[in-house]
Amino acid sequence: KPIIVWFRKDLRLDDNHALQAACSSGKPVIALYIREPASDGTSALGAAQEWWLHHSLDELNKSLKALGGQLHLASGRAIDVLSDLLSASLADTVVWNRRYDPPGIAIDERLKLDLQERGVEARSFAGQLLHEPSRLLTGSGTPYRVYTPFWRALERAGEPPRPIDAPTKIQFASVSGTGEELSSWNLLPTKPNWAREFADIWHPGEDAARERLQDFIDDGLKGYKTDRDFPAKPSTSMLSPYLTLGLISPARIWEETRGTRLPVADIVHFRKELAWREFSYHLLYHFPKLPYENWNDRFDGFEWHNGSAHFHAWTTGMTGYPIVDAGMRQLWRHGFMHNRVRMVVASFLIKDLLIDWRRGEKWFRDTLVDADPASNAASWQWVAGSGADASPFFRVFNPVLQGEKFDPDGDYVREFVPEIAALGDKYIHRPFEAPAGVLEKAGIELGNTYPKPIVDHAAARDKALKAYSAVKDAA
Ligand code: FAD
Repeated sequence: KPIIVWFRKDLRLDDNHALQAACSSGKPVIALYIREPASDGTSALGAAQEWWLHHSLDELNKSLKALGGQLHLASGRAIDVLSDLLSASLADTVVWNRRYDPPGIAIDERLKLDLQERGVEARSFAGQLLHEPSRLLTGSGTPYRVYTPFWRALERAGEPPRPIDAPTKIQFASVSGTGEELSSWNLLPTKPNWAREFADIWHPGEDAARERLQDFIDDGLKGYKTDRDFPAKPSTSMLSPYLTLGLISPARIWEETRGTRLPVADIVHFRKELAWREFSYHLLYHFPKLPYENWNDRFDGFEWHNGSAHFHAWTTGMTGYPIVDAGMRQLWRHGFMHNRVRMVVASFLIKDLLIDWRRGEKWFRDTLVDADPASNAASWQWVAGSGADASPFFRVFNPVLQGEKFDPDGDYVREFVPEIAALGDKYIHRPFEAPAGVLEKAGIELGNTYPKPIVDHAAARDKALKAYSAVKDAA
């Protein structure tokens, strides 16, 4: 009888424990992907990630085809899809790799019981993280709330399990009925095709993920510890979209950075970033309300502004602060933003515009190719100061100084805000201070070809600190 391998956030053959178990069972394999409806507490995938999902599924299907099989696509509630497929195929076992977002966990727990009641064997495996989130706990058995002790615990836990190679042969079962067509899911944008530049940056598929990792080890990892903060430098791995849908496993990344001759400080720092991803999942797993509730309930009384004109200026990259605008436009064009700039734009939304972090989280969820329920929520709360182990609210990034420090030559700004590209380095991060003659020479008419700042940063900062002391004192 066949065995069903249900692919979810693990769209790869490499280091795939569920697939490996299916192959070693000796049963013919049915490879399945289900497009599940948005369920309570989760929202549907964002538009940018749907684009990535489409291409990632297409690539997975090609890899399966190369081994003589195919990916069976179906949409609906998992229990309904599986029930139909179990009866049509006479399969008696379903395997999958675990997911750790709370709504996903709830679905899987119910499903396992349902299947077992029907006499179907249901088995799940680890794979999305280096360590199971239930494994790393404090001495008193509680979850970590602070990153540094979490990292130490991760180090003490020893090396994560070594990745397993992709199977070279799979015996597939034939499934009657062809399943659904990927194109019928309409995951790609049509008019306008706002994703037209995505394909220049993102190459889907697990082979592309491995290539990107190798390129990063060869050319980016050396110097990572210092260079990773400079958005114009190609110094980070850009592996997050691959990790988010599981085109590569963190264990594979960990393994490949083992035994290289690169400086230990760079390798450790890179692994510490992977550990931020783990920590975010640890928080989400233990505190399921992370994506929508202030971790620190002192912030429940915070007086956020509605600010729809300000929110619009932020989303479209028209705030008048070049580093903010460059980041928000990189997001439009590439479905991605450099980490340093994510912190700057998030701080600007929350503290300069006093707009609720949840609106920013939602915008990112819809526009990032790497949108991730754990990392996105944890990072937004971190910047807001409302999260576990958060950066304090009173740390307000100055967008001009951040730009000057981390984009000193203005290359990043010039790439994404071309209308001010002709400004010299002195004013590239502060066009509003440039003398009229300088602006004129650079072809800039402030308030017309490029906006004047929508808020005065110094005044906005004072206002934010006042709003913060109101909730602080009330606590
Ligand atoms: P690298 O520097 O090469 O890091 C390697 C990997 O470590 C990344 O691919 C990522 O998986 C992980 N990582 C790195 N930094 C972090 C971090 N701060 N938190 C968690 N994991 C991290 N990351 C997402 O994957 N999805 C999100 O939706 C997301 N939203 C964010 C929202 C805000 C407001 C902020 C400040 C950060 C967010 N991040 C998110 C974290 C981080 O910005 C990205 O993971 C990183 O920019 C991805 O680029 P990279 O792969 O080149 O990173």
